[in-house]
Amino acid sequence: MPEGHTVHRIAADQNEWFSGQKIALLSPQGRFSTEADVLSGLRLKSVEAFGKHLFYVFTTNRIIHVHLGLYGKFRVHTNPPPEPRGAVRMRVIGSRKSFDLNGPNQCELIDSEKMEQIIQRLGPDPLRPDADPHDAWRKMSTSTKPIGAMLLDQAVIAGIGNIYRCEILFLLSINPQKPSNELNEGQFQAIWDLTCRLLEIGKINNRIVTTIDLSETAGDAMSAKSIRRSERLNIYKKPFCPKCGDYVYYWQLANRTVYSCDNCQQ
Ligand SMILES: [Zn+2]
Repeated sequence: MPEGHTVHRIAADQNEWFSGQKIALLSPQGRFSTEADVLSGLRLKSVEAFGKHLFYVFTTNRIIHVHLGLYGKFRVHTNPPPEPRGAVRMRVIGSRKSFDLNGPNQCELIDSEKMEQIIQRLGPDPLRPDADPHDAWRKMSTSTKPIGAMLLDQAVIAGIGNIYRCEILFLLSINPQKPSNELNEGQFQAIWDLTCRLLEIGKINNRIVTTIDLSETAGDAMSAKSIRRSERLNIYKKPFCPKCGDYVYYWQLANRTVYSCDNCQQ
């Protein structure tokens, strides 16, 4: 499933290519045809990302809400777009570029009131400048759930997925099973700061890289891109801990496989 950095990168790219334009909208697969007829020809004001949710804001208070889920995928084309491939739920055609959306978990026509409700249910999003971590700290400091489960809960922090949760807890030497309310405020602040930093690096590079020297600036895309695929992560799906060399343990936590070193993460 795409994590928040991917969704924010998609929004940034699509804003550049489509915002401000009157766009044509189709549903080659047919499941979004009624909505496409309503929206086609309207001006797209902006594409907004909150956590793993995308909102296409049109004039006349019409908004498309998209959640990619496990199988959702975008394909971008230079116009004219090719024949639709597979079940294309939504095809958006702008002045120079177009994109297809296949297999989203959600693709629905909503209004600004519904958009606000969806955002209200989410925790702060580290990639949004208006994010307020206080809300996340309040939830974490009052829950006995494992921190590894809390980090995947989109109502606590919006945008973290399984790879980031494993990597963040490893980098901060925190065991995923540690009860969330046993963290002190300094540890929480460290989690928040690291999450902001890693997601920003992920958005810029369009990939998850956690082995980068974090003292460098997040804008240093070259150094992250030069890291080989097999060396971009520390602990996720790794057999051995890169710090102590011991076996990495893995188990199911909040329905996803978490990876952790018993020696290094207390
Ligand atoms: Zn270790």
